[in-house]
Amino acid sequence: MQKEKLYGKTLNELIAVTKRIGLPGFAARQMADWLYKKEINSIGEMTNLSKKMRETISNDYEIGLYSPESSSESIDGTKKYLYKVLNGKYIETAYIPETERATICVSSQSGCKMGCIFCMTGKQGFQGNLSSNEILNQFRSLPEFSTLTNMVFMGMGEPLDNITQVMKTLEILTAEWGYGWSPTRITVSTVGILSTVKEFLEKSRCHLAVSLHSPFDEERKMLMPIQKTNSLKEILDAIRNFEINSQRRISFEYILFQGMNDSQKHVNELAKILNGIKCRINLIRFHQVPGAEFRSPGLEETIKFKEALIAKGILTTIRASRGVDIKAACGLLSTLEQNKTS
Ligand code: SF4
Repeated sequence: MQKEKLYGKTLNELIAVTKRIGLPGFAARQMADWLYKKEINSIGEMTNLSKKMRETISNDYEIGLYSPESSSESIDGTKKYLYKVLNGKYIETAYIPETERATICVSSQSGCKMGCIFCMTGKQGFQGNLSSNEILNQFRSLPEFSTLTNMVFMGMGEPLDNITQVMKTLEILTAEWGYGWSPTRITVSTVGILSTVKEFLEKSRCHLAVSLHSPFDEERKMLMPIQKTNSLKEILDAIRNFEINSQRRISFEYILFQGMNDSQKHVNELAKILNGIKCRINLIRFHQVPGAEFRSPGLEETIKFKEALIAKGILTTIRASRGVDIKAACGLLSTLEQNKTS
């Protein structure tokens, strides 16, 4: 029988473990310390717990860390790792080094049920939520773990469709008994699920990125089915009504599709709907995926769109395309791997 994993448990969950197996409550803090600060790989290394205690823990539990199955490296230094998760499926994790920071892009689900038309992960369908162990293991078992400065939840899956496990992960990353990271080092990206966007804004202090892609209802519905049930207007109203702490960043991701959502009409409407929200727009040139009829705009058109938004008073940046040569579009690599093994 598989043992339960300790890595990925919150302090309260570790307290519950100590109660269940009859250990003193203080052992939970010690375990958290070993798991998240001293970065051990086995229960035997928890040397401030007695040998007997370690044996009792080991009867039912293991640490639960595992390495990626494979990796590929881009000429720009971006690396993509494939992890095999409990349901036997592959998930993707990206490592993106820059001059002054190193970001990990984690997956929160295997596959995704949101069905965004331009996304390879969406085409896989939904295969399961990742546990906090499976999300955090991507971070801790990354060969470049010690260099990481930032984390974005922009890999496979919709993080706010797996809010319980994502919130647990954020707690472990930011708690004083956990990794003690500032919430401003973490960004959670969502298509916009109203109930969990509100919950995330209330319970976390991490940055929020909303995938926008079109300010027009019909066009957004065609790109992102979520618009049919959770309209962008409701999401923007929820953000507007929430008092955003000055440290916290709200951004909107906007994939540019040539000749589709890159007109002045789009710029004007974006300025209208984002009025009153302190935010920035990140423009992303569409990464070609098999079977997609969309085209990626040229750099010149992208800069023109950016300048038009800036002229409207919207802070706008262009996200550098990274790892294009290693199938950077989310879901591409795992789809290829899954097809190989199926
Ligand atoms: S873009 Fe994100 S939310 Fe949409 S299908 Fe892909 S993984 Fe899911």
